[in-house]
Amino acid sequence: MSLKLNLIKKNLKHHNSLRLSSEAELFFEYENLDELKKLNSHCKKNNLRICALGEGTNTIFPRNFKDVVAKSKNKKFKVDKNTVKIGAGVNWNEAVFKTIKNGCFGLENLAGIPGSVGAAPIQNIGAYGSEISEFVKNLECFDIKKNKVVNFLKKDCKFGYRKSVFQLNKDLIINEVTLILNQKFSPNSSYFSPGIFSVKEDSNDIKYAMNWANKIVELRESKIPNTSDYPNVGSFFKNPLVSEKFFQNNKKLEKLKTFKREGDQIKLSAAEMIDKSDLKGMRLNNLGISSKHSLVFVNFGITTSREVKELENRVIDVIMATYGIKLEREPIYL
Ligand SMILES: Cc1cc2nc3c(=O)[nH]c(=O)nc-3n(C[C@H](O)[C@H](O)[C@H](O)COP(=O)(O)OP(=O)(O)OC[C@H]3O[C@@H](n4cnc5c(N)ncnc54)[C@H](O)[C@@H]3O)c2cc1C
Repeated sequence: MSLKLNLIKKNLKHHNSLRLSSEAELFFEYENLDELKKLNSHCKKNNLRICALGEGTNTIFPRNFKDVVAKSKNKKFKVDKNTVKIGAGVNWNEAVFKTIKNGCFGLENLAGIPGSVGAAPIQNIGAYGSEISEFVKNLECFDIKKNKVVNFLKKDCKFGYRKSVFQLNKDLIINEVTLILNQKFSPNSSYFSPGIFSVKEDSNDIKYAMNWANKIVELRESKIPNTSDYPNVGSFFKNPLVSEKFFQNNKKLEKLKTFKREGDQIKLSAAEMIDKSDLKGMRLNNLGISSKHSLVFVNFGITTSREVKELENRVIDVIMATYGIKLEREPIYL
């Protein structure tokens, strides 16, 4: 099959939620694997690299991309009983509500997370006690190096807290995600203290799950600055995981809240550390830490990735000096 490659120059300021000025000399949108294969052959011949892009809500863009920026327009959405196949180019939040409408449940606590379905497994998106990894059956990927389609079962993805194998292997482009969902709605309230989050029960599962997901979106909107008014990439740092022994031996940590994880791991709150270090609301040039949420860096004007790195390092240094913990960044510099 002969396909014409439509590589264009593109301004990407409105393709990243931090609104950094950015330009791709070569930008390519594709709908299917044939187009992606064709792009790959072209790149191999011309010694170009491919950079996969979703909706740019977890990425810090360079001023100029050297690679070919490739974005999926695969909008597939196919339900077979409780198995749902979704194309990488579908918006994640739309996918969540569509699964509910189709009588498939489980993703409600992940409603409102920005970004695309294709990027969701990359950092194993999670919120309010749920993670996408709980529902992944397999992922259809295109391997740039091998120039072929490969299938990743859940166990091959090596999911962890904001972690997967795809963060290390940039040669894999996710084309389709297959999820196994529940046919009965059973709300996940494990994250919430009793009485904090309540949704009126409904005998109709679809209505009940819809109300639950809408309430989650409302909760998020009350806590996280919206990207239209306050350009940001969500949480800038992961919550640190430490061993019980490290925690016991580090007196600087004793006044912090702790959350028990599997094994002997303890999760600490990066937001609490930033708050208690009086960094909330601080500004460095046009970039600042939101006064609404201390994990969120907000772009208040014209900012560059270099300035983002400066603020990142400043926060890391202060937290290291105060608590002896090295914060780990969540978004990715492209
Ligand atoms: C306001 C706000 C709130 C947020 N809240 C949460 C939250 O609660 N929980 C959470 O986990 N995250 C959260 N995030 C982060 C973000 O929403 C997720 O990481 C999301 O999955 C990113 O999707 P994206 O399409 O924008 O990815 P992008 O930013 O475009 O890309 C992210 C990474 O994935 C790669 N990538 C993109 N598409 C593909 C593909 N098809 N195949 C292979 N690699 C690909 C990119 O190269 C890049 O390395 C939040 C972000 C914002 C702005």
